[in-house]
Amino acid sequence: MKPHSGKVDVFVRIRPTAKFSRGLIECLPDGQTVNIYNRKDSRKLQDSKKGQLSFWSFRLEGVLKDVSQEEVYARVCQRVLQGALEGYNGTVLCFGQTGAGKTYTMTGSTESYQYRGIIPRALQEVFREVDKRTEHSLSVLLSYLEIYNETLVDLLSPQQGSTHRSRGMAVVEEAGRGMFVRGLSLHPVRSEEEALNLMFQGEMSRIIGSHALNRNSSRSHCIFTMHIESRSRSLSDATYITSKLNLVDLAGSERLGKTGSGRQMLTEATYINKSLSFLEQVIVALADCHRDHVPYRQSKLTHVLKDSLGGNCNTVLVANIYGEAAQIEETLSTLRFASRMKCVRTDPTINEHTDPAVSSHNITYPVSLF
Ligand code: ADP
Ligand code: MG
Repeated sequence: MKPHSGKVDVFVRIRPTAKFSRGLIECLPDGQTVNIYNRKDSRKLQDSKKGQLSFWSFRLEGVLKDVSQEEVYARVCQRVLQGALEGYNGTVLCFGQTGAGKTYTMTGSTESYQYRGIIPRALQEVFREVDKRTEHSLSVLLSYLEIYNETLVDLLSPQQGSTHRSRGMAVVEEAGRGMFVRGLSLHPVRSEEEALNLMFQGEMSRIIGSHALNRNSSRSHCIFTMHIESRSRSLSDATYITSKLNLVDLAGSERLGKTGSGRQMLTEATYINKSLSFLEQVIVALADCHRDHVPYRQSKLTHVLKDSLGGNCNTVLVANIYGEAAQIEETLSTLRFASRMKCVRTDPTINEHTDPAVSSHNITYPVSLF
């Protein structure tokens, strides 16, 4: 299966609310286009231009409006997960302002099975495939990383209560392995149930961290990763494949000024805006084929996601938006980010390795020896 054509697929998901503004947001019947109509900020304009209506049109892979969690998974993640089972790295990112539905899309409701999100559905599918692919032995390991104010936090840290510490954790790059976080715990899982329990444990750490340290979880980035390894059961086959599937719930993208008061909040908002604007800078650099320097190392987020943004990866972005008039400025800025992301090219290749232990059994002796 050739999963993607090397471009980032971008979807828009509109959170259903009571006051969807048909006057400002128009979804075309092609299912791929969303048009935004907005009145210009009257204070900044001359009298002649006051109240003028501006118009923007965004064409994406798909506009998801009134779409079930099941369909969102099928359209956004299924192809990426199938690619991961074939040895391609994959990343699905949710981006948008706080409250627009990023966590609902990624994790979904933790109380209702019907409304579960992409992570639990991907775990379910991966273990279905483990059962189906009897000729292969698949192993799955999970990690769950939170990036909060440029600090790396292991949400599945085996030492209880130490999830907030990140001593010894660092983003590193190794030839043949790509980007990874040194010191982040990896957990082998053998069943969907075991995997879901770990996911819930990570969600709890997120909540506990936000209460204990008085921090707002919508201000951190969370990266849930499935590390997959697939080996043939045939003893003579020395090749095996590996892949990583990153499921990323980014921090709220709202701009400074709207985010309330308090010194801590301001510090957080500055960090978030910094890491998200570094993300934007990386996207802009990647979308411009004349730029040869991409500033990945400016923030932990872009450094961790280096492979996902313009590297060896199938990447999908979900831009979560509100359909309400009051949020139109944020909606517009989210869609602008989304359309920039569409220009980013990636270069997915199968991560194939050779096991020296197996290949040494495979030496074919010259006939004359026998
Ligand atoms: P974010 O993570 O972007 O801040 P959430 O995912 O927490 O936003 O969503 C905010 C609220 O809206 C939650 O109560 C969530 O259950 C609800 N919500 C978001 N998107 C949807 C949707 N598509 N359908 C139903 N409820 C939704
Ligand atoms: Mg959230």
